[in-house]
Amino acid sequence: MLRTGRVADPNPADRAVAAYLGLAIGDALGSTVEFMTPREISAKYGVHQHLIGGGWLHLKPGQVTDDTTMALALGESILQQGKVDALAVAQAFDAWMRAKPVDIGNTVRRNLLQFRKTGTPAAPYSDHDAGNGAAMRLLPVALATFGQSEDAVRAASRAQAHVTHHSALSDAACECLIFMVQDALRGASKNDLLHHHAHPLAARHAEFKFRAVRQSQNPSGYIVDTIQAVFQSFFDTDDFRACLIDVVNRGGDADTTGAIAGMLAGALYGLESIPDAWLKTLDTQVRRACEAQANSLFQLPSPPSHAELSVD
Ligand code: MG
Ligand code: MG
Repeated sequence: MLRTGRVADPNPADRAVAAYLGLAIGDALGSTVEFMTPREISAKYGVHQHLIGGGWLHLKPGQVTDDTTMALALGESILQQGKVDALAVAQAFDAWMRAKPVDIGNTVRRNLLQFRKTGTPAAPYSDHDAGNGAAMRLLPVALATFGQSEDAVRAASRAQAHVTHHSALSDAACECLIFMVQDALRGASKNDLLHHHAHPLAARHAEFKFRAVRQSQNPSGYIVDTIQAVFQSFFDTDDFRACLIDVVNRGGDADTTGAIAGMLAGALYGLESIPDAWLKTLDTQVRRACEAQANSLFQLPSPPSHAELSVD
């Protein structure tokens, strides 16, 4: 059917594509101001709101960083295996690292080098590994496990996360984000996401309280700082563009807050909400890869459940 005008209620598959494009656009937008303070950003750009590249990585306009390219490596592994397989994910991340990405987080590098030595695709538990590196790339897991049981979703989340980040706070944030994305794809409202996911996360882990704390500025790569910034921007704005501009102008780990906020905002507001100017500037190959993976991951058949496997 010919589509005219705005689609008030896009279907979940469209929202899956919007979430993936949102991730990449948030990464590309935020990378310009990564590690800058809000004061430095406003002195240089006023309000930073265009995909102009640059930043400390000297990127081209619309170019993305590790947040998006690790997600694409994860998604490719899931599509090849038909499921989230920890060893295959670790191998995919290792291959990604060997290809010399534009940037790489310290925890990611350290634990992938450890994987090369041990062959074990799970980092040892460490409360110090509570960075945002597992959360920034988790979207393919959310799409591939859509409709699966809560236990299966949590297991898949941990399998991918623990390759580099094995920490209770990272796990809690990753699982919360995945369930938020999945409910947004089903058409949940922002208020639903607040009451069913964001507040319960803070109830279980008080670190994640984001309402009673002051305005998040210059958020670090610590998962708690990242989630507070993302949730403040996501829940206090009403469209995709406003959400992304709000979060990246906080500075700090802006490509990653942008990527996570973009994923949530894309899933919630849908394809029609993404500004054309941003979509057109996004690296064409990345845009195509995000669209193709979103469609394929979303259609991935569920692996047989334990009960089905036990029947011969
Ligand atoms: Mg990055
Ligand atoms: Mg970053």
